[in-house]
Amino acid sequence: MARKFFVGGNWKCNGTTEEVKKIVSTLNEGQVPPPDVVEVVVSPPFVFLPLVKNLLRPDFHVAAQNCWVKKGGAFTGEVSAEMLVNLGIPWVILGHSERRLILNETNEFVGEKVAYALSKGLKVIACVGETLEQRESGTTVEVVAAQTKAIAERVSNWADVVLAYEPVWAIGTGKVATPAQAQEVHFELRKWFHANISPEVAATIRIIYGGSVNGANSKELAAQPDVDGFLVGGASLKPEFIDIIKSAE
Ligand code: PEP
Repeated sequence: MARKFFVGGNWKCNGTTEEVKKIVSTLNEGQVPPPDVVEVVVSPPFVFLPLVKNLLRPDFHVAAQNCWVKKGGAFTGEVSAEMLVNLGIPWVILGHSERRLILNETNEFVGEKVAYALSKGLKVIACVGETLEQRESGTTVEVVAAQTKAIAERVSNWADVVLAYEPVWAIGTGKVATPAQAQEVHFELRKWFHANISPEVAATIRIIYGGSVNGANSKELAAQPDVDGFLVGGASLKPEFIDIIKSAE
């Protein structure tokens, strides 16, 4: 089964109502390949999710940028998976490096979040990736395998998971991984799924790349056999996001 190209836009903690409306109207006017060729999911901040969901073209979908690890309740400031389901939000990004590193989310905590979100019917973009220090010490594959294993220990149905390989040193830095560097880690992750989960999951799971992807470098990255799409930060707020979506073709 061919893996459908996936492009996610992570808007992070950006935007006012007016700016968000402007981004949505640019997306709505964009000429992109049809939904059987590319799946597009944009992730505004929580407070703009209903607005974006209501205004966005029907062939694009929305994701939250996080959700709480279990059922909601006395957890001030958190948003539960149940609330996202209630609002009709189909996707959630979990384990982004900004949350792992700034908010100290551990591999285990991310694994628990992924399992809980899936159990409530959300689809998950699960992020993994090494720091510069880890890359330079030669532990990249070990690090991303450990992050993936912590999810795998709690998840059995991978159909609703997209794995985003996002090297921390490439996020928001303008230092994109070379196509060969991205392909190497994606290949290793697929090999990990083959050995530890199943050949079927290895063949079907979408492994997308994130880290300084833009309209100029996306085509070459997309041509790598194990790169099944992108998670885009900065460039997802700009009109060039349409060019990135077009690299699916
Ligand atoms: C991200 O935050 O997921 C990301 C990939 O950011 P950027 O594209 O800005 O590097």
